[in-house]
Parts: sequence; structure tokens; C-alpha cells
Amino acid sequence: MLVLGVESSCDETGIALYDTDHGLLSHALHSQVEMHAEYGGVVPELASRDHIRRVLPLTELALKDANKTLQDIDAIAYTQGPGLSGALLVGTSFAESLAFSLQIPTINVHHLEGHLLAPLLEDNPPAFPFVALLVSGGHSQLMRVDGIGQYELLGDTLDDAAGEAFDKTAKLLGLGYPGGPALSNLAKTGKPRFKLPRPLLNSGDLNFSFSGLKTSVLTLVNQHQPLDDETKADIAYEFQEAVTEVLTIKCMSALRETGLDNLIVSGGVGANAKLREKLNAATKRKLCKVSYPRLEFCTDNGAMIAFAGAMRLKDMQSNTDKNYSFSVKPRWNLSELQAP
Ligand code: ATP
Ligand code: MG
Ligand code: FE
Repeated sequence: MLVLGVESSCDETGIALYDTDHGLLSHALHSQVEMHAEYGGVVPELASRDHIRRVLPLTELALKDANKTLQDIDAIAYTQGPGLSGALLVGTSFAESLAFSLQIPTINVHHLEGHLLAPLLEDNPPAFPFVALLVSGGHSQLMRVDGIGQYELLGDTLDDAAGEAFDKTAKLLGLGYPGGPALSNLAKTGKPRFKLPRPLLNSGDLNFSFSGLKTSVLTLVNQHQPLDDETKADIAYEFQEAVTEVLTIKCMSALRETGLDNLIVSGGVGANAKLREKLNAATKRKLCKVSYPRLEFCTDNGAMIAFAGAMRLKDMQSNTDKNYSFSVKPRWNLSELQAP
């Protein structure tokens, strides 16, 4: 089965072709970050308009790279939610109309299930069950994963997501948008000079809280005006230490509490080198295994959606099944999913 994947939930248009016999054949991506950087964050209306411009050329590119034609596609998987409604509608209406014209079925994919399964696209994928740390721009969750659609929430953020905390802190340091990669780059030259709190480290549960850290950073920033480059780097260093330490320790607690020895990490913050360094060391000490997606599949992409769709072929729906209608789910809880 050849599955076309379509991702348009936020500010990346992603298209990919996944073959259930041969794996990922191709993927094409356009990120809108440069367009939104000027505004310091994603502008939903601009995002939707740009998805419209990109979706067809990217599909042509993905088909060409895989040496396939539209007629070779057996099903279309697309992100139905959660995300920006206008942005989701572009991918959804594109996928549904293409499927209608080709007379092939569609598969509705939950964006976070896409992120969650992205590490399984790599060689030697971990087997179920495992603990998953999902750390993206909008989410910071620990889950027990027993199979596709079998997700038990172990811990969640009480306020900001990890990626959001990176972005907001980067903004306080004048690093622009999106801040995660810029902040972690700056942290490389920073030294241990400040001490920030490690929120909820000893809370006895697997929840996170990152908004207080941002406030502590603001206090440091105010105390050190005008900010010189060295101070900025030292703050970035300590912020990254605080976030990655909390994430690592909670991951290890989740492994201990579930009795599992397999951890997977996904979402944009999963690209963070310091987080990977700490998780690699901690899991090695406990003889556990940790898996990540390749760097480009940590943030939004079409490959993870095509793959999640391929894992849910049983959920395929034809146009007549759906009575020729479709919808998006801007808010959609992962725990509502069921096994295919
Ligand atoms: P969601 O999937 O929850 O709806 P999203 O799709 O916006 O959110 P992703 O694309 O998975 O999130 O990740 C983007 C986030 O990851 C941003 O907050 C970005 O700053 C952060 N990020 C990306 N690379 C890094 C890095 N190297 N270090 C820290 N954070 C990073
Ligand atoms: Mg994005
Ligand atoms: Fe995402």
C-alpha cells in the first residue's frame, strides 16, 4: 500500500509517501518560520494562505522523488487535528478532494500520534510497550504506549509546554522566533554562573511546569541590564540545564514506575542536543534504550503523518463512508484515540 501523508496543522507544509512494504519513499517540506519571524510568532491567516501555495508543488516533488504518479497512491493520510483550524482546513480539503478525484480512501491522523510514532521511522525501531516523552511547541507529556492508539497519559505540563518555554525565554533574551534552536546554540558558549529552579523536580508525580522558569529568567534579565553577550549565553546555558534536567529525571521516573526499559522522545524539543546527551547518559546507566526521530522529523513533517496513516489502514474511510463530507478537529485529545 502506498500512503500519501499531508501535514498542515501549523507553520510547516509537509508531504510524504510511505510504502507499507518498502518504508518511507520520499518527503517534502516547506517551513514558514521565516515568514512568521517578522511577527514574533505564527500568524494563522498567513499560515493558511502559505499552505495553499505550497501543498501542490510539494506533492509533485514528493511524487517525483519517489518516482511515482498520483495513480500509484492507494490512500491519503492527513492531519485532521489538533492545530490551527484554517491551516488544518487546507491540508484536509486538499487531501479529501484528491482522494475523491482518485476514488481512494482517506485516513484521519492525530498530529500528536504522528509525532509520537516518528521514532519508529528509523532503523531498529523500539518494540511496544515503551514510555514516550512528547515535547513540542504545544505539548509536554509523558505517556505509556502499549500499541498504536493505546496511550496512557502519565504526566503533563501544568502550564507552558517545553518548546513554548524555550521560545518565550529566547524572546526575553532577544533571540527572535522560533527561539528553541537559537537558544540552544547560544547556550553552547554559556557557563554555569546562575542557578535557576528545577520546577516540580520533587513533586512525586510526572507533571511538568515551565512558566515559573521563564519568570526567573525575566528577573535575571532585569537584574543585568544592559545585557551583554556573555550574560545572555550564561542565562541560556542555565535555562537549558534546568529544562533538560527536569525532563530527564522525570523520564527516568516514568521508566521506573512503569517497569519499562524503552524510552522514545519526539517533538521539536527532542532535537535538543543537551536533552539527548542527558537522556543518553541516564538511560545507559539504567541499561534502558532511548530512541529519537532523525533531527528533521522532530519538528512537524509529512513523513510522520504518512507513517501514522500506514499504521491505521484499518481506519480507512471511503467518500461514501463519510457521506462526502469532512471536518477538522482544532482541539483533539490524544486519549480519545483508540487502537485501529
Ligand atoms: P504541537 O506539535 O504541540 O502542536 P508544534 O508542532 O509547534 O507543536 P514542533 O514542531 O514539534 O511543535 O516543535 C517546535 C518547537 O520545538 C518550538 O517551540 C521550537 O522552539 C522547539 N525546538 C526546535 N528545535 C529545538 C532545539 N534544538 N532545542 C530546543 N527546542 C527546540
Ligand atoms: Mg512548526
Ligand atoms: Fe507538531
